[in-house]
Amino acid sequence: MPLVRNEDDLSRLPASERIRYRLVGADRRYHANDNISAFIREGELAELKGEVEQRLKGVLEALVIDTDSDHNTNDTAMRVAKMFVDEVFKGRYVAMPSVTEFPNIERLNELMIVGPVKVRSACSHHLCPILGRVWIGLLPNEHSNLIGLSKYARICDWIMSRPQIQEEAVTMLANELQERVKPDGLAIVMEADHFCMHWRGVKDDESMMTNSVMRGAFLKDANLRREFLSLLSKKG
Ligand SMILES: [Zn+2]
Repeated sequence: MPLVRNEDDLSRLPASERIRYRLVGADRRYHANDNISAFIREGELAELKGEVEQRLKGVLEALVIDTDSDHNTNDTAMRVAKMFVDEVFKGRYVAMPSVTEFPNIERLNELMIVGPVKVRSACSHHLCPILGRVWIGLLPNEHSNLIGLSKYARICDWIMSRPQIQEEAVTMLANELQERVKPDGLAIVMEADHFCMHWRGVKDDESMMTNSVMRGAFLKDANLRREFLSLLSKKG
């Protein structure tokens, strides 16, 4: 293979290598919680799923599981590949859901709270589920763009459907909303249950983790912050 490859050379490689080649060429990060949809061409996601299935077959083989005669695990590699690519890690492979932004004609400038939004994610360390809730507080100004309530949940889901680290997930969500809505203040609180703490390791049931991001007015104004946090506790 030549050092610089064209799409024709690339077409002879597995989809994962093709996509990686484009990412490296563009000097783009592709960590577990990065979205790489811009580097995936039509049809490649199906190829990728096939590759993941083959590798998962290898994992089951290495675990000395007889997937040929064990009817329960016959199709496990295929099912898990589909689950990873189409569902639980989908936020890496598809573009952000389209969101229509409206100018703030009514000049709303009151504290707005969205949530609880259900969070389904997985930890980057063990690929174990993380289930939880997110609350979003916004203080719009007259230049803010408003987005429909359901869109907050869709953007949140897109960010969480990746292997994540809770602190980074919250920051990613804050960056995305900041850029879109451009509020004076933005606050996010996430509370989640990390299943790697139940299923393995210390089997500690104190596995709830809460963290938050406060920006702009929420950082400067202690009263606003208090108002937001007190409304959360009422909403349960
Ligand atoms: Zn973990």
